[in-house]
Amino acid sequence: GTAVSTRRLVHIYRTEGHDVAALAGVDLSVAAGEFIGLLGPSGSGKSTLLSLMGGLFRPSAGHIRVGELELSAATARELDRLRARTVSLMLQGSQRNLLPYCSPRENVGFAQAAARRVDPSGVRDPDEVLASVGLASRADTDLRSLSPGELQLAALAVALAPSPGVLLADEPTGELDHRARDRVLETLGEINAHWGTTIVLVTHDAEVATSLPRTVTIRDGRIGGEGRSGEEYSVV
Ligand code: ADP
Ligand code: ADP
Repeated sequence: GTAVSTRRLVHIYRTEGHDVAALAGVDLSVAAGEFIGLLGPSGSGKSTLLSLMGGLFRPSAGHIRVGELELSAATARELDRLRARTVSLMLQGSQRNLLPYCSPRENVGFAQAAARRVDPSGVRDPDEVLASVGLASRADTDLRSLSPGELQLAALAVALAPSPGVLLADEPTGELDHRARDRVLETLGEINAHWGTTIVLVTHDAEVATSLPRTVTIRDGRIGGEGRSGEEYSVV
């Protein structure tokens, strides 16, 4: 099936004095269980596209469907449920939104409780999630003594607690050294393989892009190039 699809997706930010067309007609389809990279220069519309897929706001025009839900026509309640259970969005710096005086297990526990309030079915056990991101041995460690890579994995565990079908990650390796970056990438690959979670990863990093099965490039709010890894993408 199709996890996410967009058709002639347009998004315009209306600001004082002028409008900014962040997305100018995006056609993109992501199959269920796919792991794709989204590349493009700064300001090309990557974050806007990710935010629309995450149901943060509705598009100005066009269509975007996540699972069975057409977001341009969705009710507020449907969008709430989408954000709580269907899609997890890791924005840049999401590791800084964890509770610092708590452990990874407590942070995942809070996310799990929030997801349960929306729908108790399918919510993952914190130990299962922490093991899947390789943090079992650090589960009860205060976050302040985790490395930057471990913090990012803790943020990933929090994102996975609601058992989302789709994981959207904006530059999750952007602030990490190469070793930590590779560990986070490998972990994302294992999550994708193990749970079949569809992953859309925004990156500027050419090495990250080449390691992914498919990358899509966005330029000036339009899909500019698509290829299997290494074939056709531009490095920014
Ligand atoms: P990217 O993630 O590729 O850097 P963005 O989606 O953040 O691109 O931005 C696309 C365009 O929309 C840019 O021109 C940016 O300046 C503009 N933009 C992004 N967010 C807003 C906003 N909240 N208000 C006005 N313009 C915005
Ligand atoms: P038009 O603008 O040509 O009148 P629409 O833009 O409403 O038509 O839809 C064109 C086609 O795209 C329709 O067959 C519609 O079912 C399909 N469509 C709508 N939303 C999506 C989506 N999110 N992803 C893929 N296809 C879609």
